Amino acid sequence: MCIFGILIQTRFNQKQSYMKFGTKAIHAGVSPDPSTGAIMTPIFQTSTYVQRSPGDHQGYEYSRTHNPTRTALQQALAALENGQHGLCFSSGLGAIDAVVKLLKPGDEVISTNDLYGGTYRIFTKIFAQYGIKFKFVSMDDVSAVEALITPATKLIWAETPTNPMMNIIDIKALGKIAKKHQVLFAVDNTFATPYIQNPLDMGADIVMHSVTKYLGGHSDVVMGALVVNDDMLHQQLAFIQNSCGATPGPQDCFLVLRGLKTLHIRMERHCQNGKSIAGYLKNHPKVAKVYWPGFEDHPNHDIARAQMRDFGGMISFTLKDDSLAAAKSVLEKLELFSLAESLGGVESLSGHPASMTHASIPKEEREKTGVTDSLIRLSVGIEDVEDLIDDLRKAIG
Ligand SMILES: *Cc1c(COP(=O)(O)O)cnc(C)c1O
Repeated sequence: MCIFGILIQTRFNQKQSYMKFGTKAIHAGVSPDPSTGAIMTPIFQTSTYVQRSPGDHQGYEYSRTHNPTRTALQQALAALENGQHGLCFSSGLGAIDAVVKLLKPGDEVISTNDLYGGTYRIFTKIFAQYGIKFKFVSMDDVSAVEALITPATKLIWAETPTNPMMNIIDIKALGKIAKKHQVLFAVDNTFATPYIQNPLDMGADIVMHSVTKYLGGHSDVVMGALVVNDDMLHQQLAFIQNSCGATPGPQDCFLVLRGLKTLHIRMERHCQNGKSIAGYLKNHPKVAKVYWPGFEDHPNHDIARAQMRDFGGMISFTLKDDSLAAAKSVLEKLELFSLAESLGGVESLSGHPASMTHASIPKEEREKTGVTDSLIRLSVGIEDVEDLIDDLRKAIG
């Protein structure tokens, strides 16, 4: 860790502590470029840095290890998650990969069973081969998690709201269990974003993001991030980040720094539009079930209210005609909701979890969690909501 980085980071953390979220989204981690005054952090498109004499450098030696554009972004993300340290990776899965590499063969991980498909895949198809054991459980009931803990358990991995069923997991309750058993506790906060919830404040040790989604926000970057408070944990993860090398390039870091500046405004609109569309779908005669944590009859609504500041723009629903053909017909007719993988961009997207994001989970596994063939997932964008509802009206009929 370079001396420079530490000095910069400490200063910013002091300044950040009294900033509100929107101010942090715009100012945290960034300062005018000292050599030119440029208000935007430059894209330091360089792999290496000249040293005056061996070991006499300005805190930067090689861009896999440190790059100033990445440093600014890492600090901004840490500030938004109320954390001390941020680390960026070349994708969300690159970030997850780094967390699991904290473990050794024989260690066990307890994970939610309603999980992003790619996370399930890296756990079961990659790391299981290296002798790490994964147990999947519905985390609705945190005592079920505690019952699975053994002396070999080293990590609890949660995602809330879950993808795509929008279940809500009680972060505080899980945090207490993790602490009691001295198990690391990581939360994938991709769906909620730090605008809606801050897992580190509720007992998580690690917050993970697919920056690709809401944080980038413009569907033009693939990136991942981790935020932690503990200095030791940060050092271990930074060591993995540098040793394994899944780091993002400076241009992508710049794009995310730019995206972050409107995160609060975008999220406000995602949440408003999400609420209107969830309500519209709930009253639609052809819709069977709508999954959205803002409904009072959502099974975990009370926990959602307690730990989330708003309910986000992700919604899943099923049709009364519970067939693959009916779901397909709706997805083909939607125009504004483009049928595509991913989520969290300014433009609305639709998806079919069973054949897209969750295709890597066996059919029996996914149907147990509610991911049936007719389930449709929406990432509600920030367009005018009347147009979005019109699009749904035409497609559902
Ligand atoms: C997309 C996503 C990931 C993986 O991130 P990538 O940037 O695609 O590698 C992990 N978790 C969740 C919840 C996601 O939506």
